[in-house]
Amino acid sequence: MDTRLEAVRSIVLDRNPGEGEFHQAVDEVFASLVAVLDKHPEFAEASILERICEPERQIIFRVPWVDDTGKVQINRGFRVEFNSALGPFKGGLRFHPSVYQGIIKFLGFEQIFKNALTGMPIGGGKGGADFDPRGRSEGEIMRFCQSFMTELYRHLGEYTDVPAGDIGVGGREIGFLFGQYKRITNRYESGVLTGKGTSWGGSLVRPEATGYGTVLFTQEMLRTRKQTFDGQRVAVSGSGNVALHAIVKAQELGAKVVTASDSSGFVVDEAGIDVDLLSQIKEVERGRIGEYAERRQETAKFVDGGSVWDVDATVALPCATQNELLEEDAVKLVKSGVTAVAEGANMPCTSKAADVFHDAGVLFGPGKAANAGGVATSALEMQQNASRDSWTFEYTEERLTDIMVGIHDRCATTADEYGQPGNYVAGANISGFVRVADAMLAQGVI
Ligand code: GLU
Repeated sequence: MDTRLEAVRSIVLDRNPGEGEFHQAVDEVFASLVAVLDKHPEFAEASILERICEPERQIIFRVPWVDDTGKVQINRGFRVEFNSALGPFKGGLRFHPSVYQGIIKFLGFEQIFKNALTGMPIGGGKGGADFDPRGRSEGEIMRFCQSFMTELYRHLGEYTDVPAGDIGVGGREIGFLFGQYKRITNRYESGVLTGKGTSWGGSLVRPEATGYGTVLFTQEMLRTRKQTFDGQRVAVSGSGNVALHAIVKAQELGAKVVTASDSSGFVVDEAGIDVDLLSQIKEVERGRIGEYAERRQETAKFVDGGSVWDVDATVALPCATQNELLEEDAVKLVKSGVTAVAEGANMPCTSKAADVFHDAGVLFGPGKAANAGGVATSALEMQQNASRDSWTFEYTEERLTDIMVGIHDRCATTADEYGQPGNYVAGANISGFVRVADAMLAQGVI
């Protein structure tokens, strides 16, 4: 590694021990930056790299709540306000038992560059808690969200920090969080959270945006090789908000999506995933994916454990969680003839898996670019809130499409400019980084 990068990398490792996912996210960005430092010596002179790796503010707090049996439960809450050079801190909240500082920092770090890449005025942040929503009643979820917000509210604001959802945080949780924020502050401050319900300040298309955006980005990548989604055999992992909407959009464009998964295993449906059934089971009944196969016995089978990437596909869209697609999975997918992979989740492919795709000439859209449609539509929600307006579905989807095409073009042009044509990872990292670094330089040492 370049000595300028290596020096900062060792500071980051020393300062953040035990935070493997954060180190991985930093390494992935740094791997693209040598040419940037050569072209912009002013970035190293102003210690931009070291500054960008150190969050502006990190908040860790106790979240006490009472469960349905009357027992007091304690969770740990986080908000990492990573970078506000381009706008208020912006990024989701994740409620999942795996959450700790290293996960929130990796997500916050990615969010800085992803948000920059959208071209919109939003900084980067992320938060969450090690709370496991699975099996919890509605009342328990509400009390948890209220307790979480009772501490976090003092750090938020439409001009300061604007959370949204992520794994374990959907429309229901945003509702409870918003209600508590409103109650504590005595302000109907719509722009303080995004992902709200459409009757109380939410934006149409926000629920669909991440999954739709991933497919739209993939469509743009395919277009560069004169291909389309029509007739593609698509493997999707996950069955949450991102996966469901990626499946809908890919099928709308003529693809057959044959898989979906959750932590219990995956389903293969050779007739194409029935998204209404899947969403009924996952979103309404909050059940496990095996039930899908039980109700579609003619065409679908459930595989207990194993890897969804064992299934042959021409397009793969990992939409579950970080590090879910390993080097050996990438090798299998390449053998099965995959031509395009796009990350609907954040960092679902390990660095080695991404290298396999790169070396095999597979189109590879990193999450910073391919899943940016969600946060970009959050920024559209903020625009609507600021103007006390609400846009139609068609207009909002048009804006999302323009944004995804813009992100694709920005990545492609930047990759060309830096001598790495077709490398969307380099394009996304460099383009996002330069936008943030320029703004940090202009704003002085803060
Ligand atoms: N959690 C989403 C992401 O990873 C969305 C964040 C937002 O809308 O603020 O980008």
